[in-house]
Amino acid sequence: MHTRSPWAWGHIERFPSLADRADLALQLEAFLGFPSLGASDPAPPRVPEPRLAIPAALAPFSSAEPMDRARHCYGRCFPDLLRGFQGDFRPAPDLIARPRNDEEVALVLQVAREVGAAVIPYGGGSSVVGGIECAGEGYSGVICLDLERLNRVLEVDRSSLSARIQAGALGPAIEAQLAPLDLTLRHFPQSFEFSTLGGWIATRAGGHFATLYTHIDELVQSVRMLTPTGVWESCRLPASGAGPSPDRLVLGSEGCLGVITEAWMRVRPRPQFRASATISFMEWEAAVEAVRQLSQSGLNPANCRLLDRREAYLHRVSFDGDCLLLLAFESPGLPQSFLLEEAIGIATAAGGSVKDGPHESRRISGETTQEGSAEVWKKAFLDAPYLFSSLVSMGLVVDTFETACTWDRFPTLHANIVRAVRDQMKEQCGTGLISCRFTHVYPDGPAPYYTFIAPGRAGEQMSQWKAIKEAAGEAIHKNGGTITHHHAVGRMHRNVYDRERPEPFARALHAAKRELDPGWILNPGVLIDQKKQDG
Ligand SMILES: Cc1cc2nc3c(=O)[nH]c(=O)nc-3n(C[C@H](O)[C@H](O)[C@H](O)COP(=O)(O)OP(=O)(O)OC[C@H]3O[C@@H](n4cnc5c(N)ncnc54)[C@H](O)[C@@H]3O)c2cc1C
Repeated sequence: MHTRSPWAWGHIERFPSLADRADLALQLEAFLGFPSLGASDPAPPRVPEPRLAIPAALAPFSSAEPMDRARHCYGRCFPDLLRGFQGDFRPAPDLIARPRNDEEVALVLQVAREVGAAVIPYGGGSSVVGGIECAGEGYSGVICLDLERLNRVLEVDRSSLSARIQAGALGPAIEAQLAPLDLTLRHFPQSFEFSTLGGWIATRAGGHFATLYTHIDELVQSVRMLTPTGVWESCRLPASGAGPSPDRLVLGSEGCLGVITEAWMRVRPRPQFRASATISFMEWEAAVEAVRQLSQSGLNPANCRLLDRREAYLHRVSFDGDCLLLLAFESPGLPQSFLLEEAIGIATAAGGSVKDGPHESRRISGETTQEGSAEVWKKAFLDAPYLFSSLVSMGLVVDTFETACTWDRFPTLHANIVRAVRDQMKEQCGTGLISCRFTHVYPDGPAPYYTFIAPGRAGEQMSQWKAIKEAAGEAIHKNGGTITHHHAVGRMHRNVYDRERPEPFARALHAAKRELDPGWILNPGVLIDQKKQDG
């Protein structure tokens, strides 16, 4: 039996020991060129008394146990990890409701309205934008509505390749239930292990595919969402031109318009054929140009991940100072080597050389294997969230952020983001490292993803982080990027999101909120404010 950590990524049992983290601190110092504060252990959690007693109607499926409340307090971005590590769980919700069916979800919404409490829909709690943390000011308390009991694949329509899946199902549970049918949803965000279908839909998550099916949006066929004023359920359709899409308002609604309880999702046969290669580039600019050409070639690789040299180093894929492009194609029915050959041709003509591969594989049973650099990358990719928690425990200031922009703007956007972050790291921390990779690419532009690590000063890490994060957000906005490609808005990105969206759209969103949630109980503070638009 494993226990989820109240603050770190994953299970408590997987958090490295003090001795292991002390070793890691030494290795990192050699690589980063600056020291950490040294590893230490987390402080015991301090959870305030609840403001709200469990209402009798919710008692059969609710808890107010302090550690349960601590575990539902924060997402998993830097400020969350830092406060959790320090034992500060002041914003913990007052109670956790775990409804077993739609009727109990509706009951939570009704009771919350009666007692004047806020309700936070909760999936896996992997938000990195303050999506599930609510101070509850102006409310009698905060109810965390955890959907973990709605975790089943309810129905599969094989002829239409679709599955009806409950919103609280975590990534591995979805895949485990589809695997016996040789089907897959094939949505693998890095947070796959601890995030849910409902969370993915509510945040428009980005998954495994680098092209075409990048966001969960493309996989949604219809959604069922319970709102305080009624059930919002769209028709199951492969496509429709009937007015604005109801699903598009649910996608990205971040728990502030209703509670998603299930969705019909587009699934696919599990891939059988796979072809992959790793291309290295001495120059970042040449690698970017190769990816631009690939994104417009119509080849649509499943993986087209470009790592700059720091990113390749951090993920232990390459230590020779080159940028790497991880390319892969996959299909349930067709060998992919001819597509890979074409792609390699484009990449090498743009200045790359084949570092690893080409590899071809055919799955007989179980998961498709990956080879060489791709395998090293995959392992490091999945370990990265654990490493992130360890870095926070060593006093480092560390975070990731992402965006998307059109190709014409990318060189300036990238240069200005790197400059702004470096300048702030220098000012706040004396030094620091920033790396970049492309997570997804489109014919009209890339989605770059950045990681920064800087030395923290004891007790000042939060203000150091804040200054760097703000500088990054401003640089993104001023240079034509979006404040988020797939991490969502939450409370953290509101400042820039409010400037990014058209004002009439903000008013329309406000009107939708008022109509669906007139008591303003659902996830107050994300996407839209009650007073701001009313005023
Ligand atoms: C290490 C790490 C790696 C990550 N990698 C990726 C990645 O590769 N791609 C990506 O897109 N994101 C990534 N994320 C961000 C995060 O995992 C996603 O935003 C994810 O979709 C959140 O899902 P969740 O189930 O954990 O939702 P939660 O964190 O529980 O909630 C997120 C938001 O969705 C709302 N919500 C949750 N469930 C429901 C529901 N049933 N109905 C209505 N609203 C709901 C919440 O109220 C909240 O606003 C990563 C995060 C971490 C910590």
